Amino acid sequence: MSTDSSDLFGALFEAPPANRTVPVLVPMPAPKPYSYSVPDGMAVEPGSVVQVPLGPRQVIGVVWDSGEDGVDPKKLRPISHVFDCPPLAREMRDFIDWVATYTLSPPGLVARMALRAPNAFEPEPMVEGLKLVGGEPERMTPARARVLDTASDGFSWTRSGLAHAAGVSTSVVDGLITLGIFETVFLPPPPVVAMPDPDFAAARLEGPQKQAAEEIVSDVRKGEFSVSLIDGVTGSGKTEVYFEAIAETLKRGKQVLILLPEIALTASFMERFQDRFGAKPAEWHSDLAPRMREKVWRQAVTGEVRVVAGARSALFLPFEDLGLIIVDEEHDPAYKQEDRVFYNARDMAVVRGRIGDFPVILVSATPSVESQVNGQSGRYSTVHLPTRFGDAAMPDLHLVDMRRHAPERGGFLSPVLIRAIGKTVEKREQALLFLNRRGYAPLTLCRVCGHRFQCPQCSSWLVEHRFRKQLQCHQCGHAERTPEACPECGTLDHLVACGPGVERIAEEVERHFPEARTIVLSSDIMGGVKRLRLELEAIAKGEADIVIGTQLVAKGHNFPLMTLVGIVDADLGLANGDPRAAERTFQLLSQVTGRAGRTGLKSHGLLQTYQPQHPVMQAIVSGDSDAFYEREITERERALLPPFGRLASIIVSAETRHDAENHARGMRNAAPQVSGISVLGPAEAPLALVRGRHRFRLLVHGRRNSDMQGFLRVMLSQSPKERGSVQVQLDIDPQSFL
Ligand code: ADP
Ligand code: ZN
Repeated sequence: MSTDSSDLFGALFEAPPANRTVPVLVPMPAPKPYSYSVPDGMAVEPGSVVQVPLGPRQVIGVVWDSGEDGVDPKKLRPISHVFDCPPLAREMRDFIDWVATYTLSPPGLVARMALRAPNAFEPEPMVEGLKLVGGEPERMTPARARVLDTASDGFSWTRSGLAHAAGVSTSVVDGLITLGIFETVFLPPPPVVAMPDPDFAAARLEGPQKQAAEEIVSDVRKGEFSVSLIDGVTGSGKTEVYFEAIAETLKRGKQVLILLPEIALTASFMERFQDRFGAKPAEWHSDLAPRMREKVWRQAVTGEVRVVAGARSALFLPFEDLGLIIVDEEHDPAYKQEDRVFYNARDMAVVRGRIGDFPVILVSATPSVESQVNGQSGRYSTVHLPTRFGDAAMPDLHLVDMRRHAPERGGFLSPVLIRAIGKTVEKREQALLFLNRRGYAPLTLCRVCGHRFQCPQCSSWLVEHRFRKQLQCHQCGHAERTPEACPECGTLDHLVACGPGVERIAEEVERHFPEARTIVLSSDIMGGVKRLRLELEAIAKGEADIVIGTQLVAKGHNFPLMTLVGIVDADLGLANGDPRAAERTFQLLSQVTGRAGRTGLKSHGLLQTYQPQHPVMQAIVSGDSDAFYEREITERERALLPPFGRLASIIVSAETRHDAENHARGMRNAAPQVSGISVLGPAEAPLALVRGRHRFRLLVHGRRNSDMQGFLRVMLSQSPKERGSVQVQLDIDPQSFL
């Protein structure tokens, strides 16, 4: 060995001899990484993205830190290929492990979420460009002169870019190439978005905005883990405030992730970001074209992209140097993924911030009870923005007691609401009628007295199951025969399962206002997201008088002429057997009514309800959300519901009802005896049949500090083997009970 220092360095880092083995996480539901051998001369390190053989296939995997399957090294197959891509950083690997442990998911399936861009692992190909060599064409034309003038800046151009900039056809450029005045060069591919400029157009913040921004920016400056909650009414300037935190993070040279629900519909957000920072953020969501997806992944990993605005899956992008996560509308149920790996992106964003030691900002007009409690306990620092910015006032909100203002026969709109719509349309302003018709399970009520059926053992509504002629509790499995008479007022045959859809409402509206331009918006709209975007833009421009929509219209949009919001059935969300029903309804109704009056026009909201005394309704119209939260928090605390207790649900499904139920019972019997943790069920799931599969649910309830994951691991290991078509899904911190 020579004593030359560079060689010494080389010797120290020489690839270990052959037979070296490494654990590789493959995108499979296996509990551990598999071992592979590293061929001589191949350099891999933990985090390297590799291709490995798996059975007859080649799959993408990541070299992991530990946890091999212990297979005899002689039997191992070699890694086929290492991609020319920065390895997943230690923090990212820790994050993946953490999410896998917390959600009890196979780590390979979590890692797969970080690798959802199969062609992005090799560098993007260079693109052909043009460079000015010099010289003049013998025959100078005005078009040629423009091209030469445009290209005189010395930069490289693409052929079409240069033609476009010079305002000529590409044939003019081609002519100059033939004459040798330009030469072809290869350029790195252009970034998907331009560099954001933190000082491009900062807003002048006012009053409480200023103080809020100062607090938040000072957290960002510390550059360490913290969680802030921006709690402010719709239109108060929450976005402006967190833009300041983004600017500060950009100045510190770090990347930013903004999580948004319904990202595909937030074109207006992208524009607003551009107005502030001079460039758009890169987008990340499932509607992105595959090529774009690959570019964004690659450029987030290499650090070319500084800001990503994305749906929950963006949380698993392996950023080069992430320094801030914003979770906008942090209470939104869209952050919960209920497929394969069940996780809540809001909660996992906080975990990612802690592992990466950087700040996380949660933003909402109606924070989740969990975040409120964390705010109160001082774990999160809360900033408040109590009023709308400028001369925009909150809408005047009123309840319409449907027992007193009944709709005409066969209708669902009370005369009060119909009159209000008429006045709005006359003034050439817009009305929004909101009806969230997501529920599968209908609600049963007595049309005479408004009575709703409730479980005798739980604080949840009973849901009618017509085939079985039963009313069932989705919490505990309690079931009773649907009575013929109302137990409250004794009236016979007046129980109705209600739930008009938006289209039925549209019919009613058109009957009353045949001249008005009416539009229905829901996620099943013909033409998909594209059409929806166009319609939303059209509405913002005033091209509709009456909009009838589901929760899609509730989120983030700014409709300047919208001065009336009518909630067709404010009670709907209260009836789905979910412990978060009141909270969800409060959040959704606040958000929908918040669509009105964003530009200073006087605005109203009318909420049709059969239970005007309900705390949710009272909280909405009084504007006293503090009282509502206080009550909700007290109730949760008493019932030991999250965040004062822990829940996990287990969904067992199978092709036959018998198999599903049987297996669920087997799991129930396998549950260990642990004080502070109990198992409820199995009960047939409210969504009893999904895609031909019968579903049963178990609900595990634990005290706040109980080791839920440990309990479930034991329970799973002692459960009967999943035979035949049986499948088990585990949902930690469930949001859905369907
Ligand atoms: P929120 O995110 O709380 O709903 P926004 O940040 O969207 O509120 O602000 C509502 C509207 O008021 C937006 O159109 C925004 O541009 C405007 N706005 C808020 N604060 C300011 C400010 N300080 N200067 C100028 N415009 C502002
Ligand atoms: Zn019950």
